[in-house]
Amino acid sequence: MKCTINSTCSAEAAPGTLAPAGEQARADTPTQVLDTDIVIVGAGASGLCAAVQAGANGDKVLVLEVNRFVGGNGLMTEGMFACGSAMQQAEGISIHFKDLFAREAAFFNYRIDATFWKDLYDRSAENLQWLIDNGVPFSGVVDCYHAFGHIPGFHWFAGKRGYGFIKALHARAVEQGAEFLMGTRGRKLIMKDGAAAGIYATQEDGGCVEIRCRAVILASGGYAGNLDMLVQRGKNRSRIAYAGGPGHMGDGLNMAAAAGARDISQTCCFLCGVGTKGLAPLGDTILRFLTCESPAMWVNQDAVRFAREDCALETSGCQANAVETQRESYAIIDCNGLDAVERMTPGLKSTILAVVAAYKGTDIAVCDTIEACAAAMGLHADTLSATLRTYNAYCEAGDDRAFGKSPPYLVPLIRAPYYIFRHNITYMCSIGGIHTNTRMEVLNQAEQPIPGLYAIGADSCELYRETYTISIPASCNANNCNSGRTAANVAAAYLRGQRRGAVGRGLKHEKERYP
Ligand SMILES: Cc1cc2nc3c(=O)[nH]c(=O)nc-3n(C[C@H](O)[C@H](O)[C@H](O)COP(=O)(O)OP(=O)(O)OC[C@H]3O[C@@H](n4cnc5c(N)ncnc54)[C@H](O)[C@@H]3O)c2cc1C
Repeated sequence: MKCTINSTCSAEAAPGTLAPAGEQARADTPTQVLDTDIVIVGAGASGLCAAVQAGANGDKVLVLEVNRFVGGNGLMTEGMFACGSAMQQAEGISIHFKDLFAREAAFFNYRIDATFWKDLYDRSAENLQWLIDNGVPFSGVVDCYHAFGHIPGFHWFAGKRGYGFIKALHARAVEQGAEFLMGTRGRKLIMKDGAAAGIYATQEDGGCVEIRCRAVILASGGYAGNLDMLVQRGKNRSRIAYAGGPGHMGDGLNMAAAAGARDISQTCCFLCGVGTKGLAPLGDTILRFLTCESPAMWVNQDAVRFAREDCALETSGCQANAVETQRESYAIIDCNGLDAVERMTPGLKSTILAVVAAYKGTDIAVCDTIEACAAAMGLHADTLSATLRTYNAYCEAGDDRAFGKSPPYLVPLIRAPYYIFRHNITYMCSIGGIHTNTRMEVLNQAEQPIPGLYAIGADSCELYRETYTISIPASCNANNCNSGRTAANVAAAYLRGQRRGAVGRGLKHEKERYP
């Protein structure tokens, strides 16, 4: 296919703002018509894996990307999970499936589908090697990913960022003949006799393209950038902050739902954390030291404690879960607490103080008394004082009898000034929403596959439920690769009418599993 669209297909381009991609255009009045085998919506981590696999299978691939750069949030990923890789073997690391899954199953009360995890586990080493064979550079370091993971399966990318991962896959996809339409937003699926038969896409200049195809793979990276979709799913609008890349507006989920797919996003999770609006310069550090592994005390809108403040030690997503149980919440720390933070991470205290000093807003206050903290945030002063007295007594005793916060973080709040931070929740990406089977076929309300329609990566991930457990670190990226390759392979078999023997490289494995 000769693409006539003026496209910028470079992983070199710096992430910018969301391209408007023809907001004004009617989504179904095309000014040009294109034709291909497989359309992939989104050139991020999962979409590029699908594109490379589809190209290797000999299929004609067209990738739509709403931004002017490829990679999506994949650019910000740091590594990928695998079990049984050559790197792990070299270090004598061996992980059994039961050890990996048992903890996740217990965490989710068995509300996760083991077949997705088994599939991921079984293929992870081969998928990692496939990335290496396609030029993705890894650092050679395998670990648990800081203190977050419980399994030594995090394979760090070279440079600890996904740039090389994206660049290599993009180059490979182009080399194999994939076409990329940049600044082009997939908007509406074309369905024919109940099967996906194409897609309408809008462009930055307002034009609309109709692309006819026989399979569509949705890889749009979720909906965390769409405030309305978050609110529709029960999130508190006043506490939402977004920290993912541009272009994550939920188009995959919305298009799939319009085509009859089952939307299970209410049961799925987010990569998210607790923070305070305006403290972005501290990034993860502020999330971690002021809100979870920290000497701070948390109170809610009624000035009472509601959780052990170090609940992220279970898994980091727990902190946002706990905070979401309350209408409002706050972290309070004093000078002694900041000194304790400094002992844990030298240099951090001065960074926090510099950021707080530069902060201009209403979500942080620095006060001489705890009563002044209450006044600054509209809390009941007597209740807050009483809460603090009880908390300090627990700290002195080294025993948090209310919630069981770990002793190292039990530092009494007694030395002014006091710092009070209003909690917000920072969403980085949604994980899951479009219901699929392990073949990545999108399922309708009756749990039947919608022919020719696939969903991968963050659009469809079914590994977790309400919490993104980083316990199996970088399992999300492992799923991006696995689901992308699987969808490409299953789509290839679908395109060939599952004819015996008429399959390309990479399909053997799928045929063995799905004869
Ligand atoms: C900051 C950050 C760090 C992360 N780090 C890790 C990590 O280290 N390990 C890990 O396992 N997971 C990590 N994740 C989670 C997850 O693996 C990533 O979000 C990953 O990028 C998901 O891949 P994806 O293909 O689903 O989405 P993305 O990589 O975000 O790609 C989606 C692409 O679709 C495009 N798009 C959206 N809508 C349309 C449309 N309508 N038409 C055309 N294009 C569209 C987007 O612009 C984007 O380029 C991280 C997430 C974030 C936000």
